[in-house]
Amino acid sequence: MATPVEGIKASSGHLRGSLVEELADGMSTFPLESGHLLKFHGIYQQDDRDHRGELARAKRTLAYSCMVRCSVPGGLLRPSQWFEIDRLADVGDGSLRLTSRQGVQYHFVHKGDLKELVGSLNRGLVTTYAACGDVVRNVMVSSAPDAGRDLGRLDSLARALANRFRPQSAAYWELWLDGERAVSAGPIAESDDTTEPIYGDSYLPRKFKVGIAWPGDNSIDVYSQDVGLVLVPNADGELGAVVLAGGGLGRTHKDATTFPRLGDPMVWVPDRDIADVVEAMVGVFRDEGNRDDRSHARLKYLVEARGIGWLRQEVERRLGRSFDDPIALPAWGRAREHLGWHHQDDGRWYLGLPVPSGRLLDTKETKRRTAVRQILERYANEIRLTPHQDLLLCGIEEADKAAVEALLTELGVPQAKHLSLSVLSSMACPALPTCGQALGEAERVLPELTDLLDQLLVERRLADVSIETRMTGCPNGCSRPYVAELGIVGRTKTAYDLFVGGSPGGSRLAVLLVESVPFSKLEDVLAPLLERFSQSRTDGEAFGDWADRLGVAALAVGLPTFQRSSVAS
Ligand code: SF4
Repeated sequence: MATPVEGIKASSGHLRGSLVEELADGMSTFPLESGHLLKFHGIYQQDDRDHRGELARAKRTLAYSCMVRCSVPGGLLRPSQWFEIDRLADVGDGSLRLTSRQGVQYHFVHKGDLKELVGSLNRGLVTTYAACGDVVRNVMVSSAPDAGRDLGRLDSLARALANRFRPQSAAYWELWLDGERAVSAGPIAESDDTTEPIYGDSYLPRKFKVGIAWPGDNSIDVYSQDVGLVLVPNADGELGAVVLAGGGLGRTHKDATTFPRLGDPMVWVPDRDIADVVEAMVGVFRDEGNRDDRSHARLKYLVEARGIGWLRQEVERRLGRSFDDPIALPAWGRAREHLGWHHQDDGRWYLGLPVPSGRLLDTKETKRRTAVRQILERYANEIRLTPHQDLLLCGIEEADKAAVEALLTELGVPQAKHLSLSVLSSMACPALPTCGQALGEAERVLPELTDLLDQLLVERRLADVSIETRMTGCPNGCSRPYVAELGIVGRTKTAYDLFVGGSPGGSRLAVLLVESVPFSKLEDVLAPLLERFSQSRTDGEAFGDWADRLGVAALAVGLPTFQRSSVAS
């Protein structure tokens, strides 16, 4: 039987529901049913988890507010767009949260402020439409403007896919712009009763993720996408892409039928066919995906059950064309090579600025928001959001580099060269207090974890070792812990599952090593693990490769165990 969400979508009149009335009703919250529709508009209604218990005990209304997410194809923004995003930060809690899918989030936005926020973003040519919901989400791109990279091709493909898969319903403009569709960051539907040509009345069974990688740069974790595209020419030099399908990382504790999965290479397609092939794959998911159980409603479960060959046949049948076999991909570099100064093709420079956990705000000591704004006002000509929640400030003249560095120093903003490798190679999801799914902390305790890693690495003369580390507050895996060298996944309010063995380039899954480790006991696991790593790694061997070489059974010997349950990874 289809889930209740299916009924809500189908009867919503293409994402309208009662949202117009509810926005004007003077109440501080939306009904729960409307929450499912709000997601398509880029909005999650959440409650402050720090105060949930006490409010519930006192039988008072929970402290509701909204998270609002901007969809930024490929993470590319012009300065004018950024200035509007930045100006509006104070509508929420004063911070901007850069996401692991190259978007931007506002937290703690009150219902009464939503219209001003979303409307103003659109007037600044930034959209929130389809940033969440059961549609194709923000299209990711290997975004660094490195010399030799065809960035124009990457950017235009990201924009083309984003436009093609944006919902067509005019509900978005009716709600947030009083029908002023000319003011819009997205494509404009031609009529008010459009039939959603790609999605139909019920949209997709669940979210669908697309990412485009440049050969050698797997910063987008292309194997974790429902559809991953790697832009490689064929043997004749014709431009095109290897299409990967069936990646996805979310899982559910205590349910071994849910699991992270890497995408499989399916076909090589020429540039002219890429968008059609992706649309055919979206169509297969729309028609065949599981609408009875949202925890199994991802393309990866279809591919796992029926095989990549079945998906290829289905796509070729729908398009009436056949495609070439996938070609071998070049090796991937480390996931984060874009921090610090790098040369662009046009002779200018970009600065990769680390933003720990993607949290951009001004504090008394560190004024990151101000610094980014001023660099864009004076020195840079575009800004790119990375898949690791950092920023690339692009188009800086050689002559301005010193001034940029002086400005950062004046505003107390550390550059990559001032931070430890543990800080630079770690990422956490927001988790508590805002995420409704969070079982435990992530972003707020990440500094403690990186301090611990720094200390353990220095003690073992491993200070020059970078370990790609991802932490989440639940098994959904928003910061992609299952393709990290070290993944730390929230299991309860205070305990975490430890995964190890992902490759530095993100092309291998990590596996579960120890379950239910209390945060305060992480050192008891990490210290002996890193001790053995220091003793038995081969010259220059990465932590993830070492862990994979030894295997979980050998690594687990001598490690403490903690109240194990019967959960499979
Ligand atoms: Fe929330 Fe879980 Fe995603 Fe973290 S991984 S942001 S806790 S859903």
